[in-house]
Amino acid sequence: MHASPVSTATCVRRLFVLLCGYEIIPLSVSLRGADDRLVIAVPITAYLLDTDRGWVLFDTGLDEANLRDPARRASHYTAIGWDPAPVVKPHHELGAQLAGLGLGFDDISTVILSHLHADHTGHLKRLTHARVLIQKAEQACIAQDPLPMAVFASDIRLDGLRWDILDGDAEIMPGITALFTPGHTPGHMSLRVDLPVTGPVILTADVGDLAENFDAGILPGASVDDDAALASIRRINALEAETGALKLMTHDPDQARRIRLAPECYD
Ligand SMILES: [Zn+2]
Repeated sequence: MHASPVSTATCVRRLFVLLCGYEIIPLSVSLRGADDRLVIAVPITAYLLDTDRGWVLFDTGLDEANLRDPARRASHYTAIGWDPAPVVKPHHELGAQLAGLGLGFDDISTVILSHLHADHTGHLKRLTHARVLIQKAEQACIAQDPLPMAVFASDIRLDGLRWDILDGDAEIMPGITALFTPGHTPGHMSLRVDLPVTGPVILTADVGDLAENFDAGILPGASVDDDAALASIRRINALEAETGALKLMTHDPDQARRIRLAPECYD
C-alpha cells in the first residue's frame, strides 16, 4: 500500500522512553472481543529524541492537572464514564521526567503528535513555542463539534500553536520518518526512527496497544475505520519484518517492563 521511506543518514542521537502514567481499562479496549470482566493497567508512553536539530517529543502524555483537581477529575474522567481515572504519579509527570534529564518544556523545539487523544496531547499547552507536526486528517478533527471521545478541548484548542501539517508519509528530518497509520483515529501516525547504534525503531503509538494486536492481527477495541486499522497493523508488521526494527508500543505493559526507560536510552 505504501512504500517505506528509508533514511540513509540520521540526525537522531538518542531515544528516551518516558513512562508518563497508567490507564486502567477493560482488556476489551485494547483487544477486541476480550472478556469484559478482565481489566488491565496499560502504560502511557511518550518519546524524547535527541537530534542534531534539537529535542523532539513524540506525544506528550496526559495532563496530571486534570487528575489533581477534584472538579476537573470529575468533569474530565469519572463523571463521563472514564472510571477509574488514569494514574499519573509525581514521578510519571512529563515535566519531572524532562527535569530528570536536565531539560524543561522550553527545550523542546519540535512536537510530533500521533493523534489527538488526551493520553497523547496533555502537555501540548506547555509546548506552544514548538513546531507541532500532525497529520491533516487528524488536525481536521479539532474543528469537530462535539470533539471526538477522549479528546479534550483544553489540550488541543490552543492559541498560537505553530501547526506543521503532514499529509501521509514524510521524512520529518533524516532519521525520523512519519508513517501514516490511520484507523484508530482518522489521521493517526506512527514514526520510524533510525538510531546510530540500535538501528531502525518503530514507534507504533496506538496502531495496537499490546503485542497481541500485532502478533495475532487483533484490532484494538476502538477504531474509526476497521479496515484501515487492520491495514495499519499489517503495515507495521511488514516494516518490522523487512527492517528488523525494534518495535516500541505506547501501551504494552509487558514490554514496558523489559525496555530501557529514561534516564536510560537507546543510542
Ligand atoms: Zn493512547
